[in-house]
Amino acid sequence: MSNRKLSLLLKVVTVILAVGVSSVSISLLVGITRFDQLLGIQKPKSETAKTSLDRAMSASAQSITAATVQMNEVPKPFKGTIIYQAKLKANEKVIALTFDDGPSPKNTAQILEILKKNNIKATFFMVGQMVKYFPQVAKQVAADGHVIGNHTWHHWYFQMDGATASSEIDRTADIIYKTTGEKTTLFRPPGGFLNNGLAQYAKNEKYVVMMWSEQSGDAERRSPQVPMLVKNVLKQAKPGAIVLLHDGGGNRSKSVKALPEMIAGLKAQGYRFVTIPQLLEMQAQEESAVTAVSFVTKSHEHPNHQ
Ligand SMILES: [Zn+2]
Repeated sequence: MSNRKLSLLLKVVTVILAVGVSSVSISLLVGITRFDQLLGIQKPKSETAKTSLDRAMSASAQSITAATVQMNEVPKPFKGTIIYQAKLKANEKVIALTFDDGPSPKNTAQILEILKKNNIKATFFMVGQMVKYFPQVAKQVAADGHVIGNHTWHHWYFQMDGATASSEIDRTADIIYKTTGEKTTLFRPPGGFLNNGLAQYAKNEKYVVMMWSEQSGDAERRSPQVPMLVKNVLKQAKPGAIVLLHDGGGNRSKSVKALPEMIAGLKAQGYRFVTIPQLLEMQAQEESAVTAVSFVTKSHEHPNHQ
């Protein structure tokens, strides 16, 4: 190799190294957490975030109403239990759409638009630190009448002790309440992990631990193309189903694209859409009707029974 070529090569290597080192030190300076890296989202400038959060908090403190508490309320028998779907009569064609890992600035807003157009209320399981970065998006979700659930502060999967689990859940409940006025009664464990300490803490705190009965696959590492996402949801649809979708945790443009078709397909099958608390309320009412009927039958069968 000639000297000219060698020096050119050295220059290129030096530039590559400099860029590499500076980007590492920039990420260290910015202090991006693991979940941020997963999301590919950086924190907004801290000052702006702080002021907008303060504004959001003081505004929401005035607008917290009994109605927001009411719409999050779940029937008592479900508190402290794990739910995968509601048990409803086969002809009760209702389904609940749920969106995890937001709020995110772009995709959440797009999803809210689609839901509004279709007059659908859904349930959003939010990550605490995302609420901190994007309070206005969280506020919009609440303002549109959707239910907000707790999806922890960091979205960690690993085994954690009681203090960490409590901090993950309580901090998130706190920021959701201060930002949106919604008091969370639903908890969804990140990754669906039920044995790392989080679900246990949530159960003790009387949250409903909300799993799901069908998923589109939109958060898989190599998520399917839009038509397959739609197909996955439509083929698994059944009364009382809980559909797992994502509005955060990465670029969710495929979820956004698939959503109108999912909704249209489910509507064509005769489904209507409710929030998780509404879905659980329907199950509770059906069960109390069944209990009443079986009591009448029993009394009839044993007329002398006191
Ligand atoms: Zn998640």
